[in-house]
Amino acid sequence: MQHRHADGRGANPAPAATKVAADLVLRGAGELVAMTALPAADLGAIAGGALAAKDGVIVWVGREAELPQAADLAADGIELDAGGCCVLPGFVDAHTHVPFAGSRADEYGERLGGVGYADILARGGGINRTVTATRQASEEDLARLCTERYDSMLRNGTTTAEVKSGYGLTTADEAKQLRAAAIEHPLRRELTFLGAHFVPSEYADRADAFIDLVCDEMIPGCAPLARWCDVFCDQGAFTVDQSRRVLLAGRAAGLGLRIHADELARSGGARLAAELGCVSADHLIHATWEEIAMMKAAGVAAVVLPGTSYTLGCEYAPARAFLEGGLTLALASDFNPGSCNCESLQFILSLACQQMRLTPDEALYAATAGGAAALHRDDVGVLAVGKRCDFTVLVSADRQELPYHFGVNLVSDVVVDGRVVVQGGARFCEGVRQ
Ligand SMILES: [Zn+2]
Repeated sequence: MQHRHADGRGANPAPAATKVAADLVLRGAGELVAMTALPAADLGAIAGGALAAKDGVIVWVGREAELPQAADLAADGIELDAGGCCVLPGFVDAHTHVPFAGSRADEYGERLGGVGYADILARGGGINRTVTATRQASEEDLARLCTERYDSMLRNGTTTAEVKSGYGLTTADEAKQLRAAAIEHPLRRELTFLGAHFVPSEYADRADAFIDLVCDEMIPGCAPLARWCDVFCDQGAFTVDQSRRVLLAGRAAGLGLRIHADELARSGGARLAAELGCVSADHLIHATWEEIAMMKAAGVAAVVLPGTSYTLGCEYAPARAFLEGGLTLALASDFNPGSCNCESLQFILSLACQQMRLTPDEALYAATAGGAAALHRDDVGVLAVGKRCDFTVLVSADRQELPYHFGVNLVSDVVVDGRVVVQGGARFCEGVRQ
């Protein structure tokens, strides 16, 4: 993307008073996919689109031909030229587990070779290994790891991410994760306390005592560091009753509610999400039509995570049923060290199309506007006046390249809050502009 400071060239015939003041102008979009309309209405795409922003907020969106009469770029403003490529809202990844230490790459190979996860856990591997490494890491170590991962997320087009704790499992270590996750970085974040992720080995066979710790000490200690409370309600993790206790304690501490539900088995998590009015229920591989109807009635968004099914070689969530049932659908990465070591929503988009039979536009909507809705954010995920100026410029003119041309990074440039934070992916649409 070429970008240059405005030079104040040319007198403008329209009276200045009719124009909005801008400090950033984007022009040259082959199409600007505003995401202000559903997939059936072409996502609000504008051929030959442009936008203007001021102080990080979008002040005008429309056809480039109308830009000169609409916006007045400050003399020291930034002018970006998309060169005919496609412009999208930044991805909104509504489910990640970023602040962890250590790698489990060796276990991935073992599991492919047939070693069971229970055996790996029993020898201190699996999530136990991540908990050990995360407890041993300093806050500075975790913050550095977060920074590297946030950089990668931005390069791959994610501009807002939900980020969970859940590998500390003590009050001090969960708080350490949340503080590290909050390190200064252009990636916009929504922090989630997930102290009830797993029963740590020191509480083996005493899950209720661990839930006491979560409710009585961890939530009061960590609530000031987070917006959301999550719980892993599933086989091998926590029961519906234990999960209810955690979520009610989270609500009492002022946190919004999310839940890992029905991933490994029919856990009752989706029903609990409906009962408590959780903002989202995530995974939902085993959700039924009855549960979909309950979630719809309670306004619970469905967050699907196909990267996890890919890594574990298991079934995919019935995302088409969620759409047919009228649920808000979000597509997220579940980036984590055990079941989805992937921070690229571009790959996740491709999986959602291939394995969940979403159309490319349905997947794009779920990864932007859908993600924002699942985080109760009305300021990101769409390109419209009054929204944050967070967008990506692809290396291609065609948004359908995203799921189709998979396994490589198709994002060229990224803008967050009206600031260019990634620049210079190789373009192959130069000259497309008409
Ligand atoms: Zn998760």
